[in-house]
Formats: sequence, structure tokens, C-alpha cells
Amino acid sequence: MRKSMNRRFFMGGTAAASLGTLAIGATDPRPAGDRRPVAVSSGNGLRAVEKAVELVKKGFDPLDAAIEGVAIVEADPKDDSVGYGGLPNEDGVVELDAAVMHGPTHGGGSVASIRNIMHPAAVARLVMKRTRHCLIVGEGALRFARAHGFPEVDLLTEESRKVWLHWKETRDPNDDWVPPPDDEVAAYLDGYIKRRVTGTIHCSVLDTHGDLGCTTTTSGLSWKIPGRVGDSPILGAGLYLDNTVGSAGSTGIGEANLLNLSSYLVVENMRRGLAPKDAVMEALKRIAETSVRDPKRRRPDGKTTFNVSFYAVSKDGKFAGGCIYPGGKMAVHDGDSARVVQLDPLYDK
Ligand code: ASP
Repeated sequence: MRKSMNRRFFMGGTAAASLGTLAIGATDPRPAGDRRPVAVSSGNGLRAVEKAVELVKKGFDPLDAAIEGVAIVEADPKDDSVGYGGLPNEDGVVELDAAVMHGPTHGGGSVASIRNIMHPAAVARLVMKRTRHCLIVGEGALRFARAHGFPEVDLLTEESRKVWLHWKETRDPNDDWVPPPDDEVAAYLDGYIKRRVTGTIHCSVLDTHGDLGCTTTTSGLSWKIPGRVGDSPILGAGLYLDNTVGSAGSTGIGEANLLNLSSYLVVENMRRGLAPKDAVMEALKRIAETSVRDPKRRRPDGKTTFNVSFYAVSKDGKFAGGCIYPGGKMAVHDGDSARVVQLDPLYDK
């Protein structure tokens, strides 16, 4: 008896047993309901939606399921836009942003500019559950994660260090950083660097009881100014939900979402009766309209210099995504199967 109580104290309950270290802060599952679950994610989130739906079918909380889903990508060194292996800031240091929202409690939490922690979305859940705050940044976020037992790791992989070093050595011919003369990977790296790497993973989940949870986690823009915080950890910008309406999140140039509080806008559009598709397209139009008032965000043809994508699911299980320019993709699990679909763009080019 005493032994099992001690074990429960140290390990947590069923969630801990099933979710491993990511269970720090997770809730034990309840019996599954009879509604069809849905999960939507960015194009890099196929494994995330599969995992999330598998978990909500077992009765796990929709936010815990979303966090567990994106954790696969946070830990993947091959995804250079999220977590471990994410491209660093201009000093070569990986700084992560992440946020969560929980439908049943309308809770939210986030961390920004956090270093050395592979799973910032799980830390954001603890900001939500184990503090009275919503957002903790930088050194304070790292210390908070440490206090809760998250292991520290160097998030810079050899590959991402080499890409960063190449960027550093080739960005200005007049500075003192010089690339090697026989750099075999230069052509490959040039191509890589020219398409300024962006990326993030968002995941919104509707569970079998009709409850919502969502998270957005990212290493942000590559080569960003140290300390720059994007939209991903800002509730309302990189993600938002209302358990009575729906959930939405975004990837792309975060400043556009900060300036328009766009994920909030998508949810509010659904609240006034728009289907997820129309809710997303209206938000894209708003961004397209407001952003070009600033010359640094306006192309010569009058359209935005950047792309943004949205992913949304409504309380009744409808889902959709959209982007400003072609190329955006969405991973979706409709309760039966998972797939990646192309997003409809606002503009053809
Ligand atoms: N939205 C992210 C940020 O601005 C980056 C991205 O999704 O590409 O940090």
C-alpha cells in the first residue's frame, strides 16, 4: 500500500505511466466520449495529429494529446523549425517559443526565448497549471523548467551549427568572418539560407467529448535578433481557442499575427457564424490589407512580402486552413485517417 502511494506521488498517475517524461503536468485520462475527434496541424504535423487522435480516443485531455503530438516534432533533429535541431538566432543560440491553451478551463500558458529545453510546449502547460501567470521568458523560463525537472540539452545540432556558421561567414564580404575556400556544401547551404527558413508546428485538437486544446511551438525565424519573440507564444496571435467556438493557430511570419492578433480573429470569425474556411480567409484578407500599409512589409506589386498559414477547427468538428501565397500545407486527422493537404491561398502568386 505504502509502496504504491509513494510510486503515485513520485510518478503521477496513469498519464505519467503512458506518456513518460512528457507527463510532467499531464492529466490522467477519463473515459472516452462518443464524438468523432479531429486534429489539425501545420504540414510538418502528420505524426502529431496521428498521436493526438490516438490519445484522445483513449480519453486523454485534448491539450495533453496536442502537446504529446508536437513533442515528436520538437524532438526531431531533422525538423529545423522546431525544438531540437531548430535553426538558431544570429548568435548561433537556439531560442524557443511555445504556448498552449486548454478549452475546458480557458487556461493558457507560454514560454518565450527559452534555451536548452527540448519540449517548451510542456513547459508552457506548467506555466498554465502551476503558476498564476500566462507568460514567462528567457532565463526565468529556463529556471522554471529546471524547477519542474525538465532536462537541459544543447538544442544546436551539428547540422544546424554548420548552416548557421555558413550564414555567418557569407552574409557580409566586408566583415571578418571568412568561409573556407573549398566548401563542398556551399551551394547546398546557399540555397538553404536564401529561402529564409521559417516554420513552426501548431496543433489544435477536438476530443471525443467536444473539448478543445491547442499548442504552437517553434524555434522562430532563423537568424533572428537574440531575444526576438514571435507570435507563437502570444495567446491570440499564434494560437487561440474558445471551448464553445473552436480553435485556431498559425505558422509563418509571426509579426503579421502579432499586429493583427490573427488566431483570435479566426476564432472570433467562427463565433459570428463563419465556417472555419471563411473564418481563415477573412483573417488572411485582414493581414493582407493592414500589413501593406508598412513599406517594409509591402512588395512592389502591393502585396505582402511574407506568407502566413492558418489551421482551424470548429466546436462541431469542421476544419480548414488557408495561406496568403501557395505552398502552405495542413496535416489533418478527421477521426478516421490522417493526411497532409495543400492549403488554398488568398493569392495565386
Ligand atoms: N511564426 C513563427 C515566428 O514568427 C515562425 C514560423 O512559423 O515560420 O516565430
